[in-house]
Amino acid sequence: MAHDTNTQWNDWQWQLQNAVRSAEDLPAGLVDPVDFEAVEAAADRWPMVISPYYLSLFNGRSGRDPIRRMAVPSPEELHPTPHLSWDPIAEQSHCPVPGVIRRYPDRALLLVSGRCAVNCRHCTRRSLNRGSLRPLGPGELKAAYDYLRDHTEIGDVILSGGDPLLLEDDQLFEILTDLRSIPSVRIIRLATRVPVTLPMRITPALVAGLRPFHPIYVNTQFNHPAEITDASRRAAIALADGGMPLANQAVLLAGINDSAETIEMLSRGLLEMRVRPYYLFLCDLWQGLEHLRTPLSTGLAIVEHLRGRLSGLGIPQLIADLPGGIGKVPIGPQHIVSVENGVTTLRAPDGRLAGYPDPTPSIYIPRGCAPVRPRD
Ligand SMILES: *Cc1c(COP(=O)(O)O)cnc(C)c1O
Repeated sequence: MAHDTNTQWNDWQWQLQNAVRSAEDLPAGLVDPVDFEAVEAAADRWPMVISPYYLSLFNGRSGRDPIRRMAVPSPEELHPTPHLSWDPIAEQSHCPVPGVIRRYPDRALLLVSGRCAVNCRHCTRRSLNRGSLRPLGPGELKAAYDYLRDHTEIGDVILSGGDPLLLEDDQLFEILTDLRSIPSVRIIRLATRVPVTLPMRITPALVAGLRPFHPIYVNTQFNHPAEITDASRRAAIALADGGMPLANQAVLLAGINDSAETIEMLSRGLLEMRVRPYYLFLCDLWQGLEHLRTPLSTGLAIVEHLRGRLSGLGIPQLIADLPGGIGKVPIGPQHIVSVENGVTTLRAPDGRLAGYPDPTPSIYIPRGCAPVRPRD
């Protein structure tokens, strides 16, 4: 990528203006000429966007490069698969008002941006800008705030999109100011892949500007250890230093990170930069993603491998987001062997068994304990 100076390279707007958006713009030789048309067709279904920074993480021209596999359309996306869907988690039918997705009583997602620095091929929001699922326009924010004000049980608002950090600082701070004027909104989360795909976006001005709006949590998505670079490490640390707890939501992807060693290395790298592995998602059941999906047992084996080797701090919860928008379901290796006469037999990660007895029934009387709300 031709760029004149370091200053340009480190300017996130320059990165966006110079993002690769068509097969022709990819470095020569990256796409086999026989695949060219199919790659363009796949990019018609889900547009290709790759920031020059993310492109610089590609490992030469290898077709087995995990970074490239996440970003460059593959002819395999065009294969129709009967058990896959065009709206696997039914987000379109969970919008009480445009731009707000709600599937849980106490949480809601606000689609504040329609853009990303890299369009991941495995994106869960491929329905964005199709059908009814659109990012909030400036005129629609008010209806979203009214909805939140009317539903005081929603205490956790997740800014998503697209990537909320592709908004300009002042646009973002205006949204945060409005959200903070709603007393029932207790915590705000930023769901962003920018630390991974556009780390220069995490400027000192952004971090300082977010401070008045705490508590803000950042959920990001590192999927592979090769995404941990000096730049992404600096971005994560800047956010942590700015007072934001960081959590990672990785997606388990075939040929990218579907080995225990890769996920272990990723988890260790994340912990060192103060990012806690939070979720490890099974790939959504999207049409066009069959080549990126893994068997559920692969996820279980990976989590089983981590347990016992790595602190609980570094072990993500394996999650399937169920078809129909029912919600996220945690999946774990089974450690309960049997329950008999008040004794549960448990299996440790190394295979050893031990009995864990319940308290004597005549001594344990459920007394209940009243929840007391923390003082404001
Ligand atoms: C994933 C998701 C959330 C957040 O879920 P957590 O388990 O709290 O991280 C909230 N709302 C919607 C619609 C979601 O898809």
